[in-house]
Amino acid sequence: MKDCDYIQLAVPGIRALQPYQPGKPIEELERELGITGIVKLASNENPLGASPLAVRALRGALGELHRYPDGGAFELKRALGAKLGVGTDAITVGNGSNDVLELVARAYVRPGAEVVLSQHAFAVYPLVTQAVGGRPVVVPAADYGHDLDAMRAAITPDTRMVFIANPNNPTGTWSRHDGVHRFLRGVPPEVVVVLDEAYFEFVREAQYRGGVQWLREFPNLVVTRTFSKIHGLAALRVGYGISHPQIADVLNRVRQPFNVNSLAMTAAVAALEDDEHVRASAELNQRGMRQLESAFRAMGLDYIPSAGNFISVEVGEAARVYEALLRRGVIVRPIAGYGLPRHLRVTVGLQAENDRFLAALAAALDAVGAGRP
Ligand SMILES: *Cc1c(COP(=O)(O)O)cnc(C)c1O
Repeated sequence: MKDCDYIQLAVPGIRALQPYQPGKPIEELERELGITGIVKLASNENPLGASPLAVRALRGALGELHRYPDGGAFELKRALGAKLGVGTDAITVGNGSNDVLELVARAYVRPGAEVVLSQHAFAVYPLVTQAVGGRPVVVPAADYGHDLDAMRAAITPDTRMVFIANPNNPTGTWSRHDGVHRFLRGVPPEVVVVLDEAYFEFVREAQYRGGVQWLREFPNLVVTRTFSKIHGLAALRVGYGISHPQIADVLNRVRQPFNVNSLAMTAAVAALEDDEHVRASAELNQRGMRQLESAFRAMGLDYIPSAGNFISVEVGEAARVYEALLRRGVIVRPIAGYGLPRHLRVTVGLQAENDRFLAALAAALDAVGAGRP
């Protein structure tokens, strides 16, 4: 049989894709360095771990592993609907909220259609756009954050979708509720707006509001949230979208029938009731954020004020500082791929983890500044 180039055979959008770069796994660095006791502050995971109520519920669910999940996600949708004050017909469950982002793109973006997103925005947006043959239209950021007026102005008759991360990852920037509302008012109804609120539960800013309150006013709005961040269930992959029931209907047509597994749903339902874990996680995050900010100021480092559970700090030659941190057993996230080659993103950890990171950062900056590894 004649050889083919199976890269060239792939559909055009996928041929050009660069895969998402996840944080370096702890086990990988352990293998490379032959050391243990590594601190990973690279993936915005909850340093307190999973919701204890979720872990307990999971243990009770192990007897049913031979059963297929409930494809209709009845219990999870009922719990979410009650919590958010929306009908279950407004909800789409996803294998992580990334899954929901992809479902929206597959359902509403045809090849050649434009998708508006911000410079420095979450990397999954251009990925899911290109995978379906859509054209990302990247709007320059304002002070690292979304310039919503410029994003509104970038909408053309060819635009089918807009992604807004609020707060955004990796910058931690957030948009005020009045700005988001003004933006939504200016978007034509045939353009679907995805408001990604993966860090919703962490935000303390008074001028911030979640998007669920606007669902009735704007039928083109899809709000996405996740159990990966404050609930500490990143391993299980469960997130959701909330939207007009017609959009949810469409997303549920393209969704795989068992895209969220039984254990994930069981844990998510329990986590949703774990107000104490959410409260403790948000409080720990506030304290850790203050700890990192004041240490950065003391070190003379600029940082981007963040509303999430992570912060991006300007360190100069970030790629080298990242490597120097790895050698000291600390994993953070380089964000050159987001157009920020002088910054590193660090997740807020436990106080002791933050201490380890800050000591390693001081040593790494010294070493890099002195031209040592
Ligand atoms: C972490 C994150 C998500 C959620 O990812 P999951 O697939 O739910 O684990 C979505 N959007 C942003 C901006 C994120 O940082």
